[in-house]
Amino acid sequence: MKIAVLPGDGIGTEIVAEAVKVLNVLGLPLEMETALVGGAAFEAHGHPLPDATLQLAMQSDAVLFGAVGDWKYDKLDRPLRPEQAILGLRKHMGLFANFRPAICYAQLTDASSLKPELVAGLDILIIRELTGDIYFGQPRGRRIATDGHFPGSEEAFDTMRYSRPEIERIAHVAFQAAQKRGKRVTSVDKANVLETFQLWKDVVTEVGLQYPDVALDHMYVDNATMQLVKAPKKFDVVVTGNMFGDILSDAAAMLTGSIGMLPSASLNAKNQGLYEPSHGSAPDIAGKGVANPLATILSAAMMLRFSLNQPEAAARIEAAVDNVLSQGLRTPDIYSEGTTKVGTREMGDAVVKALA
Ligand code: NAD
Repeated sequence: MKIAVLPGDGIGTEIVAEAVKVLNVLGLPLEMETALVGGAAFEAHGHPLPDATLQLAMQSDAVLFGAVGDWKYDKLDRPLRPEQAILGLRKHMGLFANFRPAICYAQLTDASSLKPELVAGLDILIIRELTGDIYFGQPRGRRIATDGHFPGSEEAFDTMRYSRPEIERIAHVAFQAAQKRGKRVTSVDKANVLETFQLWKDVVTEVGLQYPDVALDHMYVDNATMQLVKAPKKFDVVVTGNMFGDILSDAAAMLTGSIGMLPSASLNAKNQGLYEPSHGSAPDIAGKGVANPLATILSAAMMLRFSLNQPEAAARIEAAVDNVLSQGLRTPDIYSEGTTKVGTREMGDAVVKALA
């Protein structure tokens, strides 16, 4: 089982090191190879996604990814920015389905910004379409030169688009996921204003007819955002486009206590996948040894389950994470009074110890 390990920038290197440590003690025949990506790759090779990194990712069964980005690259031309690496990997690997579970661990209900009764037992799954929408439309507008000068036009636009087959395949993924859970799908759109999302709504409705055991409802994205903080437990599976999914899944992350707890999986039609925490490179805390590695460790568990067919090892990791939380160990982002504050490495060590 070959895994491409791409730590990236900022806290990416710190949190991926902990996930690798956890994977190494499982006693599985895992072959892991590390490569540069994002700003680190730009510094070394002049491109955020060098060919060698892309080839390694394409030839592996799965990719374990940290995070990319730093404010210092904001003035680079867009194709050279670290974030382009993740878009390139999604595009080349055909990773169209992004799974973002938001589970509120009983031990962390106090870390949520919502009242404990609203989030206790929360278990929702956001499925975000990942290779279409406005992020893959045609960008136009001003380019920021490296000297900070803004040449050219004073207008900018991006095009939003979806095709019927793109919507159909993500809708099937959502209905099939719901069949294994609470049998409810909420499709989030903005069909009242955007033609792209009228098509989205029509196609999801049509696909839904093939799944009579799953209840489907539709919600506008503004209302869905409101409902997510008002009564999040009303949701089971939420399916939506790339941009709305980006925003909604970060909001859902906070319901669980911290974005540092939220894993994600991005899969293609062959179940090859890229696994990463839902957060970014957190330049504000990078190098301080305080980042929460649990989202990345839980992403490694998703990798074992979805791409490497090792559900028992995945369950062992998830139980070990539950165990360290029950011991009261907390990185600063999930710390509350009466618990024990630990750093990134201590948290990883505790998971390894719980596994043993
Ligand atoms: P971010 O997710 O990096 O950080 C947001 C906040 O959450 C920060 O206060 C940060 O300290 C905190 N945080 C994030 N992960 C944490 C963790 N594991 N433990 C504790 N606290 C954590 O988002 P941002 O600050 O908007 O972006 C920073 C950089 O990351 C930007 O360059 C952005 O483009 C990039 N980014 C990359 C990805 C990716 O690699 N997939 C995703 C989002 C943002």
